[in-house]
Amino acid sequence: MSTKIYQTLIDFFLFEKIFSIIDVVKYMDLQQLKGVGEKTIEHFYQANIYNLEELVSYYPYKYQILQPDTLEESDEKVSLTINATIIDPGKVSYIRKNFNSLRFKVESYGKIINVTIFNRAFLKTHFQIGKEITLIGKYNSKTNTFTANDIKLSKLEGTEIIPVYHLIKGLKNNTLHTLIKEALKEAGVAEYIPETYQEKYKLLPKHEALKKIHTPENTEDIKAAKKTLIYEELFIFMFKIQYLKLLKEKEIGIKKEFPMKAVEAFIATLPFMLTNDQKKGVLESLQDLSSPKKMNRLLLGDVGSGKTIVATVLLYANYLAGFQSAFLAPTEILATQHFLSIRELFKKTEIHIELLIGSMTKKEKQKIVEKVNKGDVDILIGTHAILSEKLVFPNLGLIVTDEQHRFGVSQREFLGVRNEVPDMLFMSATPIPRTYALTIYGDMDTTLIKEKPQGRKDIITKVVKESNLKEVLLKILEEIKQNHQVYVVAPMIEENEDTNLKDVYLLKEKFDLAYHSKIPIGVLHGKLKKNEKESVMQEFKTGRTKILISTTVVEVGVDVKNATVMVIFNAERFGLATLHQLRGRVGRNDLQSYCYLICNEEKERLKVLEESNDGFYISEKDFEFRGEGDLFGTRQSGDMTFKIANLKRDYNVLLAAKKDAQEFLETKNYEKDFKYQKIIKEIDFTN
Ligand code: ADP
Ligand code: MG
Repeated sequence: MSTKIYQTLIDFFLFEKIFSIIDVVKYMDLQQLKGVGEKTIEHFYQANIYNLEELVSYYPYKYQILQPDTLEESDEKVSLTINATIIDPGKVSYIRKNFNSLRFKVESYGKIINVTIFNRAFLKTHFQIGKEITLIGKYNSKTNTFTANDIKLSKLEGTEIIPVYHLIKGLKNNTLHTLIKEALKEAGVAEYIPETYQEKYKLLPKHEALKKIHTPENTEDIKAAKKTLIYEELFIFMFKIQYLKLLKEKEIGIKKEFPMKAVEAFIATLPFMLTNDQKKGVLESLQDLSSPKKMNRLLLGDVGSGKTIVATVLLYANYLAGFQSAFLAPTEILATQHFLSIRELFKKTEIHIELLIGSMTKKEKQKIVEKVNKGDVDILIGTHAILSEKLVFPNLGLIVTDEQHRFGVSQREFLGVRNEVPDMLFMSATPIPRTYALTIYGDMDTTLIKEKPQGRKDIITKVVKESNLKEVLLKILEEIKQNHQVYVVAPMIEENEDTNLKDVYLLKEKFDLAYHSKIPIGVLHGKLKKNEKESVMQEFKTGRTKILISTTVVEVGVDVKNATVMVIFNAERFGLATLHQLRGRVGRNDLQSYCYLICNEEKERLKVLEESNDGFYISEKDFEFRGEGDLFGTRQSGDMTFKIANLKRDYNVLLAAKKDAQEFLETKNYEKDFKYQKIIKEIDFTN
């Protein structure tokens, strides 16, 4: 990193007061390492390693265990490790650009063997007759040849265990290992696991665990080190969650009174009967509302399970109790849609409901903000952008946030929440298994909505290769002839709206060509102006356009009941959970719906979607395929990336850590301990 950037960074840190002076000093300690220059430091930064403690917490993800084999073992073993002595250093052939081979002769176990290795021309300079080396690769006893995929320039004495790290750009595994070993000598590491639990589970002291994880002498070392470090990671994780929970339990809410009869009467006006799970959700959240404790509830339900209605009933009760509500949605489209459908449901009431989104004109916004601040608006629906407006709700009693957006203490300020704490309802369609919900949402009460509204048919899903697109085009035509509608999600090249724009239009051209421009097609993407988006959505909703081609902006919550086909291009680029979400845009009434996952190469994991319509099952599978880091999409992955623990495998440890963290918090021993205070500082309170 150039000095200038470095200086800017320091300025930034100081200015933002995100890090204390001590942290800034710590940030420089990577430079203490021998052989670490600006370039390496920059690579470390890119890998989110900013100091020695973080460097020694960069654990290997696997180990290469080298043990000398004999040539006889070549029948059973795919890869053989043998000691050998060079008897002819051989020669390099340059086959084509970036492709060379090195062929040489060795003696091993009394045999003379011809060895080949590719793309290691540089090894040649280290070869002399009589040099002892270790060959790793495949031995063919018939031809007496050895194809090496790795060569060590020394003899293997006994068993050697080499930790293998996830690559950091610019650093060879070996170099990284050396630096970590060096760092182990210098780094000050804090002992986070309280002694009680260290003894209880027979865990290692931190420093020993680190030493064993990076330089194990045998597999026992690895096991013991892992046990300690996994527990530590989960303990810290649960400590944070339990700490948050503790904070939230201390919050005093508003005890709200509303006539239950009137709420029931409102429910009776809804165009359908609530499902049992919806009733449960309504009941539980109404109880929270009328309790003096602050409501902090998560409504977790698969796409299409009907969470919005539950929230709507709650909004009504809150209104009856005499309070204002804010309803936040992640996108403008969604906010607008919620606004329209909720306003419709409240048609026969006196409720004053308004929409506030970022793309409104300054004047429009100002007008609404004034009304809200005067207390004239009962329910304000908007995107998160409304948080930046000068809102001061005189009487805010409830905040509902839709689709995975959790927010907390710091953001409440924006809503002008002062003394009393409004109740909070979070809605998420990320159908994580209950067990994992406990970890991510461990600080909240959870209501699970599993039941789908009656009459819903499973969506028939098919993985289709792009070369077979014709089949899909015909099906689309068939559905449109029945007056149904179609969503098409354009290829996602990058997670960047700009670069994907062109593909939406390109796709439209293709569709126009295929249907001789006879089918009206709408195009939707994030870069459209608010009124453009609205009119595109409106045209689709009213059925004037039959096909809606869009980037993934439709991902969340859009509700067009007449849509029966969802086509997703580049499906292999999405996680199963996201695909399931997208698919949830269709099948929103009793019509049979279809989903086509278009991909260039068929992916085994996509078959899961052909087999199942159950979001919870799918998320389990996604979890198996991709690990927890990806489960929640890029937006949430930060919460859930573990260095060494694996929630699925280590679930029992997690439960133990949860109990221990709770117990530890009760002792209050953390209060005066700098290291735990540091952990508390790391908690993302906005989450
Ligand atoms: P999500 O949980 O994905 O946010 P929505 O709240 O958008 O789901 O509901 C999906 C659709 O199902 C909406 O069109 C809604 O009107 C409808 N719906 C909700 N509850 C019921 C029900 N009990 N019976 C029939 N339709 C329902
Ligand atoms: Mg929804």
